[in-house]
Amino acid sequence: MTHVFHRQPGATYPVAVAGDGPWLIDGDGRRYLDACGGAAVSCLGHSDAAVRAAVLSQVDTLAYAHTGFFTTEAAEDLAAHLIAQANAVIPGNRLDKVYFVSGGSEAAEAALKLARQYFLEIGQPDRHRVIARRQSYHGNTLGALSVGGNQWRRQPFEPMLMPATHIAPCYAYREQAEGESPEAYGRRAADQLEAAIQTLGPETVAAFIAEPVVGATAGAVPAVPGYFRRIREICDRYGVLLILDEVMCGMGRTGHMFACAEDGIGPDILIAAKGLGAGYQPIGAMLCSAVLFDAVVAGSGFFQHGHTYMGHVTACAGALAVQRRLRDDNLLDNVRRQGAALRRDLEETLGQHPHVGDIRGRGLLLGLELVTDRETKAPFDPAVKLHARVKRAAMARGLMVYPMGGTIDGRHGDHVLLAPPFIIEDAHRHEIVDRLGEALAEALDTPA
Ligand code: PLP
Repeated sequence: MTHVFHRQPGATYPVAVAGDGPWLIDGDGRRYLDACGGAAVSCLGHSDAAVRAAVLSQVDTLAYAHTGFFTTEAAEDLAAHLIAQANAVIPGNRLDKVYFVSGGSEAAEAALKLARQYFLEIGQPDRHRVIARRQSYHGNTLGALSVGGNQWRRQPFEPMLMPATHIAPCYAYREQAEGESPEAYGRRAADQLEAAIQTLGPETVAAFIAEPVVGATAGAVPAVPGYFRRIREICDRYGVLLILDEVMCGMGRTGHMFACAEDGIGPDILIAAKGLGAGYQPIGAMLCSAVLFDAVVAGSGFFQHGHTYMGHVTACAGALAVQRRLRDDNLLDNVRRQGAALRRDLEETLGQHPHVGDIRGRGLLLGLELVTDRETKAPFDPAVKLHARVKRAAMARGLMVYPMGGTIDGRHGDHVLLAPPFIIEDAHRHEIVDRLGEALAEALDTPA
């Protein structure tokens, strides 16, 4: 009997009692290889000594100080570290200030509000509209949900959501036409943004928000080359702010500290969470350009937003230790190496599987899209609940993966997301592929 209101009320969950590197251990001593970081969170696994020490030491000296009264060394150092990283890797980086919150949805809310407030500060009060993409996810709070394009998550709350305009995602597997080059497709997909801005009236559009690699909603889908360059050009042409959501794909997950660096562009606002604190503490961040920050300083002098736990000193200390581990131990090298090897192994083992339509992603953020037929790319009947069967079959084999359903239109479409910790070694990788192959075979009722 539990009094905790779980995500799936009524379901029975194993009790997690300990972590050991990339493994989680339940109360019966069963070990689960964490091949998805929960939801792409646990990038250092579950027992990192340096992060643990940093959190404990912070709690020992100062556990909390309200940001209406104080700043802290941990927050200042973490912000400086993130901006130095952005300057080092993002071409023409504009990000210069960091606003810390407690997770991805809060970071998305802050980004939307800052975009709106910026235009008020500079005397363009009509700019309030936000354009986003179908098949995207920016969080579950009502503002973030409003701009998100995950139909399944949106549907129950539709009457309560604020208006937003959705264009097509950049999703080559399903939307690139026969004979169309990736470049031509990227241009066609990006030009939907220009068309939407023109339809709405450029003087009313505040921002466009997108994930550089679409995470849970589409299953690790990066844009084709050139897509985001074109998006950047269009935003600049119409004075629309570009918000990139790197809550899942950022902080090294793709093998680069910022995923957008690989697309060759930077945003006006970037949001991060998940890997930022690696799950040791809840933390998210909104990074923004000095132009936006200065407009608030020179204008009203107050950002009309905030939360009690924003800039939490223990969370910042934990995240700083995480980020220093990535830098000092060159862990992104391992992300790139293991990511390429995992993709190769998946392609070798499951690339010809009759129900694996596509294997994609970047670094250690990989996705497999499941289809009834590789030729027609037809999705499974939602009544089969294939994603849930895969998750169950994987857990029964001591493997955590992150399958999702309803990803095409809210009902149809199943994929499996993989996002293992950055510390995985060859043996872990082999176990992931073996156990996933068996889990798929059981869920699909096909031979392993
Ligand atoms: N944005 C993206 C891309 C995400 O993947 C998520 C969570 O999965 C969020 C935002 C929301 O983050 P949180 O669950 O921390 O509120």
